[in-house]
Amino acid sequence: MDDMTVETSQPLLIAGGGIAGLATSLALKQRGIESIVIEHRSLAADAGLAINLPGNAIAALENLGLHADIDRLGHPVRRREYRAQDDRVLAVIDEDAFWSDAMRPRAVRRADLIAMLGAHLDASANRLNRSVKGVRQDAATAYIQLDNGDELSAPLLVGADGVRSTVRQALMGTTHASASRLASASWRFMAPNPGVDGWTLWTGKRGMILLLPVDDRTVYGWVALASEDVGATELQKLHDVFKDFPERVRTALSWALAHPDDLYHSPIEEVRFDRWSEGRVVLLGDAAHATAPVWAQGAALAMEDAVALARLVAESDDIAGVGRRFEDARQSRVRHVQAMTDRLAKTARLPYGLRRLMMPFVVPRSYRATYDPLRRI
Ligand SMILES: Cc1cc2nc3c(=O)[nH]c(=O)nc-3n(C[C@H](O)[C@H](O)[C@H](O)COP(=O)(O)OP(=O)(O)OC[C@H]3O[C@@H](n4cnc5c(N)ncnc54)[C@H](O)[C@@H]3O)c2cc1C
Repeated sequence: MDDMTVETSQPLLIAGGGIAGLATSLALKQRGIESIVIEHRSLAADAGLAINLPGNAIAALENLGLHADIDRLGHPVRRREYRAQDDRVLAVIDEDAFWSDAMRPRAVRRADLIAMLGAHLDASANRLNRSVKGVRQDAATAYIQLDNGDELSAPLLVGADGVRSTVRQALMGTTHASASRLASASWRFMAPNPGVDGWTLWTGKRGMILLLPVDDRTVYGWVALASEDVGATELQKLHDVFKDFPERVRTALSWALAHPDDLYHSPIEEVRFDRWSEGRVVLLGDAAHATAPVWAQGAALAMEDAVALARLVAESDDIAGVGRRFEDARQSRVRHVQAMTDRLAKTARLPYGLRRLMMPFVVPRSYRATYDPLRRI
């Protein structure tokens, strides 16, 4: 028995059972490596919402053996329309022509994505409903402390516990996520489709709103405000921000505002560090590199991370060195997404008149510049 077999015969530990943690557990399992996912929520707070998955996310799902599932549960996203607040079309992207059939983008409910990524887990053996409180390591082992006082150990610990990661905190000291340059907060909701045919984003003086069909009758909505925040108790202000937008927007938003319990307010925070690992602890997904969702790359990068990490663990005879090799393998792709996010955030913050003039030129160029490298797996 060689070193690698000895080390990976012990289950690895994964802190966080969101998209990144579940995808990592699945990718490891496909390579015959067991893991335990530690997750403190029975249901993610945003499980009722949807998510946009561009082509590279679909390729990652294919890699995870889930192509049939996303085919069944995802709604095809064939084209994007960027519109002004007076409904004028500023740019159209033919996503069908850009991505191949095998990589056709999809909108999917988050609960469905989480269920397909987690279907392989044996609830009694591979999942622990506990909160991670701390992490430590020595040369041979990583340890995780749980809220009940227990301590678990493994040859490798994966921090997939999201933008406010406890594992990152333990690894790097006091490290905070920072507000994104795009907007500090956003609102999300599901509503009856007011007549939207595909991915449609309206941009205006004080904010932008995306409506994305998730099935024949329902749209997912995402609202970001340009320079002001609307507190969780100030919902009526959203009516005011979007009062000059087209009827389709006002209809969907009015419906959402009439169902405030289903309206989801969240900060948009980013995480940018040069290092994602230390010894036997590796960060991935949002814990390593949360990025404002302008290019919808959070889930895609998290699932790509999972596939890459599992491959490195399976092929490595030095598990303590996997973290560094993972950083080498993944950082240039993530940096590309961060740079393109900053570029678009800059455009989004221009005065409305200028933005409206520039978008017909900037959007198609930025789309291609962002996604072209990501099409190459
Ligand atoms: C407004 C908004 C819109 C977005 N839209 C898109 C989109 O359209 N497309 C896209 O690809 N991405 C989008 N994203 C980003 C995407 O949601 C994230 O990138 C993705 O969820 C990252 O997954 P993750 O598993 O790394 O983190 P998370 O989804 O945050 O999962 C982390 C998990 O760890 C658990 N956890 C945390 N701390 C502990 C602890 N101490 N102990 C135990 N468990 C713990 C949490 O409960 C959670 O389940 C959006 C993000 C925002 C904010």
